[in-house]
Amino acid sequence: MHKYNYMNFKEFTTILKEAKFRETPPELIKQVKKLTELYINQYSSSNEDSVKDLIKKGKILEFNKNKFYRPYFEHFLKEDDEDLASVEMPDYFAPKFGSLTVMDLETGKKEKIQVMCVYGDVTDAWAAYSDNFHTINLYDENLKTLSPALIESKILHEATHAFQQYKGVSDRYTKKSNSGEDLDIENYYKRPIEYDSHLNEIVYNIRQKFNMLTTSIKKAKEDATKRILQNRLDLFLQELKVLIKADPESYFKLKELTLPSYLQNFENFLETIKGESSDESPLWKKFKLKMVNLYNELSSENL
Ligand SMILES: [Zn+2]
Repeated sequence: MHKYNYMNFKEFTTILKEAKFRETPPELIKQVKKLTELYINQYSSSNEDSVKDLIKKGKILEFNKNKFYRPYFEHFLKEDDEDLASVEMPDYFAPKFGSLTVMDLETGKKEKIQVMCVYGDVTDAWAAYSDNFHTINLYDENLKTLSPALIESKILHEATHAFQQYKGVSDRYTKKSNSGEDLDIENYYKRPIEYDSHLNEIVYNIRQKFNMLTTSIKKAKEDATKRILQNRLDLFLQELKVLIKADPESYFKLKELTLPSYLQNFENFLETIKGESSDESPLWKKFKLKMVNLYNELSSENL
């Protein structure tokens, strides 16, 4: 099982406060979008020809010819209860795929984070950040099937780990924990660093959807089209308002409501933070508070 470094209460409240007021800096979003584009257009293994070319150029390396990277990958891929012999090594990897510069809230300094692309069936995670190496690994095998928006969101999630004030241990969540190991997934989502990163990811997804809708309204030439798009935007805001007001059980237990499309990837997270009892859990309250702030911000921009 995973071992976590639990934080003290002060650290926990600091990170929640931080999460509430922090917006992802536009500069970081630009970098994340650029990496996503680079990944989709050249490095994703769905582009067979491009990947072959990158191997020829020495930008993507074969693991078998670069075994000194073994401890690096072991650090990412080893579960705490696993012995090293059973850890799968990647087939290929691109050590210099890209980088991100983040403002580290722990040190107050700019930090450069190396981003690596990793190929092969080695984990169920989309991506992971390591505080030891200051690197992010993108796992092509799982990432390549996601939409561009979700790929952005997964990279942003790991970038959030890189600048969080309290970093704790690296991200070792795998989809494996989704089936059966309930306690494990619960611990995962409730860890402050994960709670914070997921919240950041959700805000990002909502913001992206909002920007997409407002841009399309501005670009529309026909009045009728503008009206249809405006209706869509109103509906989008309405849905967010319902989310803020509704009892979470209407989505999960009663199934009277379906989660907005931009939240469907976060169902497990939301179900975990809503808690079990009929009283609203503190984590759900914090989530709602963040949604209220976002809703107010977006509606004031929609005037
Ligand atoms: Zn994470």
